[in-house]
Amino acid sequence: MPKELAARLHAKFGHQGRNRLLRSLKLFGWLDRYHVPLQITCAACNITKARRRPRTGTIRVAKYAGQIIHAEIFTGGSAPALDGNRYAAIFTDGKSGKILALPIARTSLFGEIMREFLARLRTLPEEMVLDSGG
Ligand SMILES: [Zn+2]
Repeated sequence: MPKELAARLHAKFGHQGRNRLLRSLKLFGWLDRYHVPLQITCAACNITKARRRPRTGTIRVAKYAGQIIHAEIFTGGSAPALDGNRYAAIFTDGKSGKILALPIARTSLFGEIMREFLARLRTLPEEMVLDSGG
């Protein structure tokens, strides 16, 4: 597919990213005839990205170890680990940056493993930060 046509279709379908554009074009049968280029240059998207405002949210910085703990689920890939687990609960200390990774078989076990992690601590953290998949 010529780059000009790809840029026009990108604009026509609401300035979607490449993967969404591929899904849209698949619905209309465009992918049977064309390959979408890897890079679609769009002046409108470039201008809006360049003028995007910086983050205004405040980020709390931990003053001592164990004050703020960041928790998230690692979904590394489709291949399971040697023990059969596909995921890991990752707990990061906000001050020291030390990481504890606990393997889990399913993401639904995250709450259980978090309770287990908190039970290991001598004092509870002031704040647990969960990104909730974001
Ligand atoms: Zn665009």
